[in-house]
Amino acid sequence: MVNLEAARARLASLPDPEIPAVTLVELGIVRDLRETGAGLEVVLTPTYSGCPATELIADDVRAALAEFGPVTVTLQRSPAWTTDWISAEGREKLQRYGIVPPQCSAEQAIRFVPQLRCPRCAGGRTEQLSRFGSTPCKSTWRCIECGEPFEYFKSI
Ligand SMILES: [Zn+2]
Repeated sequence: MVNLEAARARLASLPDPEIPAVTLVELGIVRDLRETGAGLEVVLTPTYSGCPATELIADDVRAALAEFGPVTVTLQRSPAWTTDWISAEGREKLQRYGIVPPQCSAEQAIRFVPQLRCPRCAGGRTEQLSRFGSTPCKSTWRCIECGEPFEYFKSI
């Protein structure tokens, strides 16, 4: 018998390789952890299809759970990951890390132009510099008040 509670706790401690301030569980990437006849199975939904971090994440999960026996990682791409799955705690951590978390639901994002507050000085005058930041899931912004650039985790 695998100690599922311990495995779950171990899995919940794994940081996202791109944004180490938040965990994979907080980002909503980990969909399930279950015991099968062959060991543990972890179901992951990558944030973006073709995200280069996906293999890295799967390797991290296998390594972290290796002590609990054989681990199978299954990628589930449907339903597609959405920023709606980021937990409240995950959003707070993103904000503290300097990345403004998604400001609306994925459904609203089509019409929504975010009015962002600077995560550093909380200034309200900000402008978008680029629709894409260091990764496709973020856009790059600048605070007009303190002059610092910051990233926004777009709603999808
Ligand atoms: Zn600022």
